[in-house]
Amino acid sequence: EKLLQGQVAFMTGAGSGIGKAAALKLAENGAKVALVDLHKENIEEVKSQIEKSGSEALVLEANVSSPKEVENSYKQLMHHWGRVDLVFANAGINGVVTPIEDLDPKEWELTLSNNLTSTFLTVKYAIPHMKANGGSIIITSSINGNRVYRNIGMSAYSTSKIGQMGFGKMAALELAEYQIRVNMICPGAIETNISENTWKEKDNLKKVEIPIQYPEGNQPLEHRAGRPEQVADLILFLASSQSSHITGSEIYIDGAESLL
Ligand code: NAD
Repeated sequence: EKLLQGQVAFMTGAGSGIGKAAALKLAENGAKVALVDLHKENIEEVKSQIEKSGSEALVLEANVSSPKEVENSYKQLMHHWGRVDLVFANAGINGVVTPIEDLDPKEWELTLSNNLTSTFLTVKYAIPHMKANGGSIIITSSINGNRVYRNIGMSAYSTSKIGQMGFGKMAALELAEYQIRVNMICPGAIETNISENTWKEKDNLKKVEIPIQYPEGNQPLEHRAGRPEQVADLILFLASSQSSHITGSEIYIDGAESLL
């Protein structure tokens, strides 16, 4: 029997990067996975990959910063599979490197709603469906969820990632009575297209770029950025009963980048 046999996962940002790798990993380990993303064609592609390997997937195109769309996505999932055991609140965008003085309030809003409000909504609307059986919720924060970004111009992103950490710990405390665990992962630089993907969402905003002072990806362990598949292994661990006594924790996955 596979580790996650019979379990159902709701995964946001599943069309790309970390979310995609995690969806493939959970499916490979027996879970049925609901793939939630803004970009339908990307999650269709992930679904077909999952189905080829003999597992089940569901495409849920949604903007997870919209309360209605998140609530409705859970309704569709429940209609299909009747339960939710695992939630991966992972969708997010990068901040554009911009000093506070030049930061367009619309960009502040966009970053906070895509990264932080989306996390609140993804957790909130899961609760009614998870209360009876318990389960595991995993939030993708960042090594910048516990310290300021080592570069000026990232105030909105940093605020959203630190906010996720506070929210996730409150959620762990509140949901413990339902046997729902809530943990945060803190990736360092991971090889994904997050920066390009972010630009697409922000095409109509003023961009004021300042040079990066501390290039990312300087990780003592492997001298490269992490790979989404390496993060997916951590997601599998936190989703499974192998981590049954872990809740409210933040787990670094950064090749010691945060120690520099
Ligand atoms: P990615 O761009 O490859 O994937 C993010 C996915 O989220 C995309 O498919 C995008 O369409 C989706 N998305 C964004 N906003 C959404 C919304 N409002 N509704 C629905 N879907 C939405 O990026 P990634 O690197 O895999 O990022 C995943 C998470 O990891 C993010 O929260 C990011 O902040 C975090 N993170 C990434 C890194 C890194 O170096 N890549 C480091 C630390 C933390």
